[in-house]
Parts: sequence; structure tokens; C-alpha cells
Amino acid sequence: MPTYEYKCKKCQYRFEEFQNISEKPLSRCPQCGGRVHRLISGGAGFLFRGSGFYVTDYRSESYKKAEKADKGESKGETKEMKEKAESKKE
Ligand SMILES: [Zn+2]
Repeated sequence: MPTYEYKCKKCQYRFEEFQNISEKPLSRCPQCGGRVHRLISGGAGFLFRGSGFYVTDYRSESYKKAEKADKGESKGETKEMKEKAESKKE
């Protein structure tokens, strides 16, 4: 029997309910009687996959940024090292 997760639109109360798949979803909040909507707990795989894509996107984005930062840093270091070497020569 799957566990369905509900969230109240009115008071934001979150609760889980064991329900048979053929049972009608709850529509009322046990706390305030407001409307509830069922969260997609059965789609955990989908959510995981979605966040996976998001993480990949985020990683590639941060990787680009890191690459840029690395280039900038190495440039600065090279310049600094050159300057130091030059001042040593003088
Ligand atoms: Zn409520």
C-alpha cells in the first residue's frame, strides 16, 4: 500500500496517508479543513532524475566558472612570477 503525501494549501500542514491505490485522494486538511493537494511521492524516481539533471547543469555551469577563475588566477600568478623574476634579474 503506497504512502501518499499531502500538503494543505491553507495552513501548509504536511502529512502522510496510507491509502490503497484505488482509494480517492484526500481533499481536506485534518488540521484546518482546507484544501490539500497530493504530493507526487510515487514519482520519486522522476524527482531524483530531475534533480540529477539539475545537478549536472549546475556542475557544468560551476565548472565553467571555475575554469574561468582558474585561468584568471593562473594568469595573475604567471604575471606575478614574471615580475618577481624580472625584479630578481635587475
Ligand atoms: Zn490545513
